[in-house]
Amino acid sequence: MTTAHGDVQTPAFMPVGTQGAVKAVTHRDLESLGAEILLSNTYHLYLRPGADLIARRGGLHAFMGWSRPILTDSGGYQVFSLAARRTIDEDGARFRSHLDGSEHLLTPENVADIQAKLGSDVAMVFDECVAHPAEADAVRKSMERTLRWARRARERFVALQSGQVRDVIVTNPGQAQFGIVQGGVYPDLREESARGTVALGFEAYAIGGLSVGEPNETMYNVVGQTTPYLPDDRPRYLMGAGTPEDLVEAVARGVDLFDCVLPTRNARNGQLFTSEGVLNIKNARYAEDERPPDPACGCYTCRTYSRAYLRHLFHAKEMGASTLNTLHNLHFYLDTLSRIRDAIAFGRFEHFRLAFRQDLSRRLLDS
Ligand SMILES: [Zn+2]
Repeated sequence: MTTAHGDVQTPAFMPVGTQGAVKAVTHRDLESLGAEILLSNTYHLYLRPGADLIARRGGLHAFMGWSRPILTDSGGYQVFSLAARRTIDEDGARFRSHLDGSEHLLTPENVADIQAKLGSDVAMVFDECVAHPAEADAVRKSMERTLRWARRARERFVALQSGQVRDVIVTNPGQAQFGIVQGGVYPDLREESARGTVALGFEAYAIGGLSVGEPNETMYNVVGQTTPYLPDDRPRYLMGAGTPEDLVEAVARGVDLFDCVLPTRNARNGQLFTSEGVLNIKNARYAEDERPPDPACGCYTCRTYSRAYLRHLFHAKEMGASTLNTLHNLHFYLDTLSRIRDAIAFGRFEHFRLAFRQDLSRRLLDS
């Protein structure tokens, strides 16, 4: 994938930097882990410190000191998660800030404006998310609204990028905009959404509304039923997924781009993803365990520290616990994607996938 701030090898995993920072680690760490692109959250940056402030500082790359690609989500999912604090109508979503209770309106147009000010390399359209499970009627209504919003968002984006919007500072003239396919777990709605979104002519496309509590197999099926309707020559982005297994299975179904809070959030809770399965570093059994978290891992944490020491840091509530655990988990995710890319390049992806699955079932039997 080529962006205004450089190329990204796909399939790729994007560490999540909600507030313009990946929690507990520095950009230097991310660069040495080989992260080629970050995700940041429009909703959070819009509320604090504000998109105008970031635009005056030259855009998000300059503001946060990160020169590689950035994707910003649209805020749709965050607003949806506010539940009782928001109302959604055809115009957009009205909500109260989780910070100070102030009232805001996000529309397809002003979300495009906010992202133009932030200057991310990839801007996502503002979409409507529905809860899972939901009846087909409700999902259809929401999917159709998302399509109408996508048309408005695209028109605004084109106007912004062609210099027709005078009062918005466009900080990245090379920004791309991705459309989002919705439609819940209903194959016919997914197809309709994909066809309608592709017809609007975005730079690339995402699959939204998954990884919201549906069973794994359902997610895999929906992904497999959606990607055939998305162009082969554009990256496909599965939003918000998932576990390492989810990533492998989604790649098998044609997905190129991922983001997820699991590696970073779980790291801060003491949960490490390893080649031997999930390891809870807080457990008493590791109190005097001299082994690294993952003997097969070459990350800084595993090369330097024992489970015993990491367990101690966690219980002592040392900040370093979050940092070292995050370094390991991000390394595990980024390394998994790197191995997937190698396997694809050597025509051995199916073999890799099978071996990954066998390891997984063996671990489940062990535990
Ligand atoms: Zn490690």
